[in-house]
Amino acid sequence: MKMRKKVRIKVQIAFALVVLLIGIKFFMFVNYITSADSALAVNRPPGVEAFLPISALVSLRAWLGLGIFDTIHPAALVIFLTAIFISLFLKRAFCSWICPIGTLSEGLSLLGQKMFKTNYTLPKWLDYPFRSVKYILLTFFVVFIFFGMSPMEAYSFLQTPYNMIADVKMLTFFQNITAVGMTVIAVLVVLSLLIKQFWCRYLCPYGALLGLFSVISPWKITRDSSSCISCGQCRKACPNQLKVDEALRVSSPECTGCLSCVEVCPVKGTLSFKLPRKLHRFPSPFALGVTLIAVWFISVSIAKITGHWETSIPLEMYKTLIP
Ligand code: SF4
Ligand code: SF4
Repeated sequence: MKMRKKVRIKVQIAFALVVLLIGIKFFMFVNYITSADSALAVNRPPGVEAFLPISALVSLRAWLGLGIFDTIHPAALVIFLTAIFISLFLKRAFCSWICPIGTLSEGLSLLGQKMFKTNYTLPKWLDYPFRSVKYILLTFFVVFIFFGMSPMEAYSFLQTPYNMIADVKMLTFFQNITAVGMTVIAVLVVLSLLIKQFWCRYLCPYGALLGLFSVISPWKITRDSSSCISCGQCRKACPNQLKVDEALRVSSPECTGCLSCVEVCPVKGTLSFKLPRKLHRFPSPFALGVTLIAVWFISVSIAKITGHWETSIPLEMYKTLIP
């Protein structure tokens, strides 16, 4: 395995482990609240709010409309804004380097490749309409939240008990999963084994939103046509089936900045992740990985220092609401 992929996989695994630890701690927190046994006391990890993107979108509506930063799930909005910030500058690197669902989706594709010796691709007549599904879902959420709700209604929704324990509801959903829920997950797993990054490519509205922001990213995969030998290896390696070998700059919202194309290019320096002209190029995947971790760390630190990380919900409220 080449160096670039190794670096990205290490970063993906590091973020996935952090998410796993957050999940375990949150489970222990809910267990402590429901058992009322003080010997089991654990603090609630705010990072669990990464899994509340709808709440984050409603918070954004209230923040933009009223200037009030949500105090119920502030980490959800911080994480959401950080992902958008990354997309504005570094394409959808959040999807291919940080997002644990993206990591899982990629892992299932690799497993499928081993099991069936290939990942299947949908024919173009199916691929295009399927790809629009994530944009339709995104449009639904954006229209509902930004046009169907006033800023005051958005703010009021954030204060409801439903939103306050949305994270706990999510946990109980998985703990008491119904036959329908299991079936949906099983279908998604099978499709992800068969089709490369099925979830990210066709269904994820979060990725769709980040993709739209990423179009204006100044850092893009750039091809030097004077040294390119038109071997087409970059196109073959791209998990998103982009025609890298025909583009001078890859602007597509589907590009996740994974650097797989750069990795396989046989002519050194022909493909790079860079600013226009010769202003700056990431010298290595390591540099991109370090940049992403640094952005994440700085964002969370600022949120903690300025009091926009921990929820304002008192423990007593959890003890009332959760049971
Ligand atoms: S392989 Fe290259 S063009 Fe394709 S998604 Fe990854 S970085 Fe973008
Ligand atoms: S892999 Fe490199 S040399 Fe081959 S077509 Fe792509 S950019 Fe050109």
